[in-house]
Amino acid sequence: MKSYSTLFLLLLVTCFATAQTDEEISKDPDLQKKAIEKAKNKPNIIPVTENIFMLKGMGGNIAVQHGKEGVLMVDTQFERTSESVLGIIEKETENTPQFIVNTHLHGDHTGGNKNYKQTGATVFSHQNVKDAMLAALYNEAEEKVMKEIELMEEAAKDNDKEAQKALERNRDRAKTKLEQPLDLDTSNIPSISFDNNLTIFYNDEEIKLIYLANAHTNGDVMVHFTKSNVIHTGDAFVNGLYPYIDRSNSGTYKGYQSAINTILQTANQNTQIIPGHGALATKADVAETKKMLEFIYEKVTFHFMNDKTEDQVAQMRDITKFYDEKGYGDGFISTEKFLRSVYKAVQKNEGRKKARNEQKEKRYKEMQKRVKKEKDGKN
Ligand SMILES: [Zn+2]
Repeated sequence: MKSYSTLFLLLLVTCFATAQTDEEISKDPDLQKKAIEKAKNKPNIIPVTENIFMLKGMGGNIAVQHGKEGVLMVDTQFERTSESVLGIIEKETENTPQFIVNTHLHGDHTGGNKNYKQTGATVFSHQNVKDAMLAALYNEAEEKVMKEIELMEEAAKDNDKEAQKALERNRDRAKTKLEQPLDLDTSNIPSISFDNNLTIFYNDEEIKLIYLANAHTNGDVMVHFTKSNVIHTGDAFVNGLYPYIDRSNSGTYKGYQSAINTILQTANQNTQIIPGHGALATKADVAETKKMLEFIYEKVTFHFMNDKTEDQVAQMRDITKFYDEKGYGDGFISTEKFLRSVYKAVQKNEGRKKARNEQKEKRYKEMQKRVKKEKDGKN
């Protein structure tokens, strides 16, 4: 009995120490901010099939497949949301994830990796994802060392000989540091990577990881739950939004279009499609994106061929009006950003054709001049 009353007292104290009343929250802007953030961090559960659900909240959409063998999860959102996501998964499945697939490298899809790895999960990804994530860590560590040297140089600028000597010593030390293996925090890096496709047989289902080359990035995979007829597309498809083509990670417009085609070929009318961002989708939604990509590319190409500049095209809202009205530009990629990225793709893909056309035109004009001259000479 005594221990119960102590426990009760402890609980009471804890409650008063941590919980705030609505009145308290309404008076304190900081608490309000925290409450809003907390609510935003809490993802919604969207049932997809009996053993698959989708988690939609901050960052990329998550898919969770569960069954007699355990839990497989697609993408891990941010580190800061992983605690609440893990809480939901444990509550819904009475388990923690055993396998995780990262659809690509971006932080809103991989940020939570380390926390799930700590609970025993094994993370899979395409090898370009692993390589790019490792390279980013190296770059970051290297930049830190370079910055240290820069700061020392700055400090020693107006100093006496002793400071100069100290700088030399430190600079040498920093350089040696760069030559040795850098101490990196690799806890977010996927453990198992593959170079094309991979199939996982889990919970009585073939789960196909299909590589989509140079689409959103150069490491995109879509995840096809074959028996459940569910696809997680990663950011190779975002529902009702302009896509982000990450050129710095070798994403390309043409690759994005072929990824969309691969999704369409894999899906049938009943397939449920979990996009990288946006609401649960169908094949018809992916088909609309295909149409949008073709339509806008064609329009931008027309203007590019007619010597319009990127800045001019970026302001042409008549091109995007139909999709803007549907809210395509309200996400991470605004209309202007999208038009600029299409323009760059057109410039790269059609630039040569344009130059060839211009050459042809020039030659034709010269020929016309010559013919006229000859004619005039005869007369
Ligand atoms: Zn992404």
